[in-house]
Amino acid sequence: MGKAYSFKRYGHDEIHIFEGYFHLDHSCDAGPESICKKIKLDQGKWHDNHVCLDPDKARYAAAGLGKLVCGECVKRLYASF
Ligand SMILES: [Zn+2]
Repeated sequence: MGKAYSFKRYGHDEIHIFEGYFHLDHSCDAGPESICKKIKLDQGKWHDNHVCLDPDKARYAAAGLGKLVCGECVKRLYASF
């Protein structure tokens, strides 16, 4: 199955991205830390409607959220295409 990206809000105004894989039922998992490695899976809160996105949707969502998204996460999101 393809890669899945989920966005997590950390603190007030910082969003980091987790990478995982889709399951057959279209749910997804997420790695143990954000793709920038700055936060762990048990930190922060999933960002509403920004979980289990395919790479295209994740890139679109990151563009829409703009500066809220961690720059290092965005760089790695683009690098993985
Ligand atoms: Zn990050």
